[in-house]
Amino acid sequence: MNTLTIRTSARCQLIDITELIRETVRKERITDGICQIFVPHTTAAVTINENADPDVSRDILSILDRLIPYDGPYLHREGNSAAHLKASLVGSSVTVMIENGHLVLGTWQSIYFCEFDGPRSRTIHIKSLAGK
Ligand code: ZN
Repeated sequence: MNTLTIRTSARCQLIDITELIRETVRKERITDGICQIFVPHTTAAVTINENADPDVSRDILSILDRLIPYDGPYLHREGNSAAHLKASLVGSSVTVMIENGHLVLGTWQSIYFCEFDGPRSRTIHIKSLAGK
């Protein structure tokens, strides 16, 4: 397993981590298989979406804010319930195929780390398994 650390810079933020994942897979020298990307946090997530228009990331964040307001009527006393809910909605892992040494992603797809309770230091686990 590989572990990466990233530093987020806003309370809510989508960060394109595709290149970091590509580098990690390259170092593992797995040419065919699958790569699991797992975020071990309860207030952050990972997703795959469009990389061409940065407004897509902005829309994701703004609609999540409207769906799950920061100051909702929450029981959790830590003050970050919205972040917990967003993290569950988006999910803590994605799996990407590896074919001929490359991540199998659509032309407009990138892998995004989703910060919902930043800024802070975050961890991403990556595990690749070989197989045809
Ligand atoms: Zn909490």
